[in-house]
Amino acid sequence: MPTIWVYAEIDNGKLDPSSLELATKARELGDVEAVVLGPGATEAAARLGEYGAEIVYASDDQVYADYVAQPHVHALTELIGENAPDMILFAMNYDSRDIAGRLSARLGSTLMSNVLEIESVERAKTAIIGGTIIVDVALEGAPKILLARAKSFVAEPLEGGEATVVPVETTVPEEAKRAKRVERHEEAATGPKLEDAPVVLSGGRGLQGPDNFKHLEDLASAIGNTAVGATRAVVDAGWVPYSYQIGQTGKTVKPSVYIAFGVSGATQHIVGMKGAKRIIAINKDEEAPIFQISDLGVVGDALKIIPQLIEEVKSRKG
Ligand SMILES: Cc1cc2nc3c(=O)[nH]c(=O)nc-3n(C[C@H](O)[C@H](O)[C@H](O)COP(=O)(O)OP(=O)(O)OC[C@H]3O[C@@H](n4cnc5c(N)ncnc54)[C@H](O)[C@@H]3O)c2cc1C
Repeated sequence: MPTIWVYAEIDNGKLDPSSLELATKARELGDVEAVVLGPGATEAAARLGEYGAEIVYASDDQVYADYVAQPHVHALTELIGENAPDMILFAMNYDSRDIAGRLSARLGSTLMSNVLEIESVERAKTAIIGGTIIVDVALEGAPKILLARAKSFVAEPLEGGEATVVPVETTVPEEAKRAKRVERHEEAATGPKLEDAPVVLSGGRGLQGPDNFKHLEDLASAIGNTAVGATRAVVDAGWVPYSYQIGQTGKTVKPSVYIAFGVSGATQHIVGMKGAKRIIAINKDEEAPIFQISDLGVVGDALKIIPQLIEEVKSRKG
């Protein structure tokens, strides 16, 4: 059986949920092991075990939280040298991308990004040309390094799954401590996270300005357990922060209901939301491409419809 590693990112002591998706997928491909580095790693190792990792290489060393990428690459290079995994799965987060890219350069091994499906240790699927074409890729060399898009796989615990934790005892050299994290900024947020919300309301340029965008937030609070997202056009215009962006260069969401207000439906946006169970679109232009993937399309003015929806939801909730 091939050995599949999951690089499990940990941020501020919290395990990235994508690593559990990767561990679940890895169970289909071979024997699952994981690497988790930074404060909170040992606790996270237990969770990775519940999702199928048999061995977890873990270190709670603060060095992995203080410095960016280089210490992680140093530790991974040593661990790979000692254990020779066949494949290493990373989630497409910023830190993981940085680490995977450096690791590929260090080892001279294959790196494939934007992975949507993994058939075996030899084959995977990726999206190219702005997500418009899915291609089959034959993978060569070892270890193969794959960067998978969030939500490509569903995380499912393994009954009785338990990991053996192997402490990582690497000493990180001074030359691997050059990029230091000097500040951490947490954006204040209310309501569910965009990636996890069962209902997502997304606004596009059709909302015509940041003030109108606030009405979308009001509608989200009226519905409850609902998050607000946006297109890149809106983020680039500075109406909302980047954390709202859905699409190829933003977040991937798979809610039960996705409602698009004034969103044209560019392929780069669709790639981040087409997995939603139900898609509803409101657009003034009946030819807007978003209608092609919508379960329900409303040709109308979003600026008029949003206040009516707020009233309707409030009155139904009493
Ligand atoms: C490399 C690359 C990466 C990209 N990554 C992303 C990404 O991650 N996410 C993303 O979203 N985009 C991304 N884009 C940009 C993408 O191509 C589109 O430009 C963008 O998604 C368009 O945003 P929009 O739908 O808000 O704006 P527009 O395309 O301008 O659409 C506005 C829509 O609003 C409708 N409208 C206008 N007024 C109203 C009204 N009053 N009521 C109802 N409807 C109205 C119009 O009919 C129109 O359909 C990327 C582009 C590139 C090149």
